[in-house]
Amino acid sequence: ATAGRAPVAIVTGGAGGIGWEIGRRLVADGYTVIACDMVPGLTAEPLDDSDRAHGTDRAGVPTLWRELNVTDHAQVAEVFAAIAAEFGGIDVLVNNAGIQRHRGIEDLSWEEWEAVVNVNLHGVFNALQAGGKQMLEQPEGGRIVNISSVSARGSAGRAPYSTTKAAVIGLTSTAGAEWAARGVRVNAVAPGYVDTGVFRQGVAAGTLSLDTILSRIPAKRLAQAGEIANAVSFLVSDQASYMNGQTLYVDGGFMI
Ligand code: NAD
Repeated sequence: ATAGRAPVAIVTGGAGGIGWEIGRRLVADGYTVIACDMVPGLTAEPLDDSDRAHGTDRAGVPTLWRELNVTDHAQVAEVFAAIAAEFGGIDVLVNNAGIQRHRGIEDLSWEEWEAVVNVNLHGVFNALQAGGKQMLEQPEGGRIVNISSVSARGSAGRAPYSTTKAAVIGLTSTAGAEWAARGVRVNAVAPGYVDTGVFRQGVAAGTLSLDTILSRIPAKRLAQAGEIANAVSFLVSDQASYMNGQTLYVDGGFMI
C-alpha cells in the first residue's frame, strides 16, 4: 500500500519498444509511470508545465519521461532520488534498457563489447542499486523486474548480449535473496523474440533469420510486446508475493 499517493513505477528504456508497452501496461495497472531513457522516443516527451498538469504524452498515455543514461552511476542515483522526492517513493523498477552488437567473437571490437556490457550489465546494476536502496528505506518496500532474454543461454553472433543477459539472471537471484526478507522482491523476465528494436536490428544485421527462429519456436510466432508486459505486471503485483529471485521465460516454448 502507498498511503496517500499513487504507486510509482520507473521503466528504463521506456521510451520505445518493449519498455513503452510495459509502461502502458503499468499505467493501466494504476501506476504513475516514469520512462527513464536517453531519448524521448515517439511516445513520451520531456515534462513541461502542461505535461505536469495533464500527465499525458503525445500518444495519450500518461507516461512521464526523464532523461537518463543508465550507464552513468551518479546520474542514475540523482535521477532516482529526484523522482522519489517528487512522487513520494519508487514502488516498481523495470530494468528494460538494453542494446546489442552483432558480430562474431573474433571480429568484435573492444568498444562493441564494452558498450553492451555498460548498458546491459552495469546499467542494470546501477539502477537496481539506486532503486533498491530507495525501496529498502520505504515502509512499503518495492518490486524490481530485470529484463533478461532467452539469449542468456548463448546466441551465435551476439556474445556480449548473451553474456550480459546471463549475468542479469545471476544478479536477479542474488538481489532477490539479499532483499527477500526486507520487503523488496526482485525477479526477471526472459522474453523470447519480440518484433521490436533489438530483434529487428538482429534481422537487419543478418545475425537472426526470421524463418529459422520461427521454426525453433513451438508457438510458431514471435511474442507481442504486450505479452512481455503481462509477465512484468504479474511479477510486480501481489499475485507474485512469494516469488523472489526467479526468472520467468516468456518465449512461446523456445527454451524447451
Ligand atoms: P529497443 O531498442 O526497441 O528499446 C530499447 C530502449 O532502451 C530504447 O528506447 C533506448 O533508447 C533505450 N536505451 C538504450 N540505451 C540506453 C541507456 N544507456 N540508458 C537509457 N536508455 C537506454 O529494444 P527492445 O527490443 O524493446 O528491448 C527492450 C529490452 O528487452 C532489452 O533489454 C532487450 O535486450 C530485451 N529483449 C528484447 C527481445 C526482442 O526480441 N526484442 C528479446 C529478449 C529480450
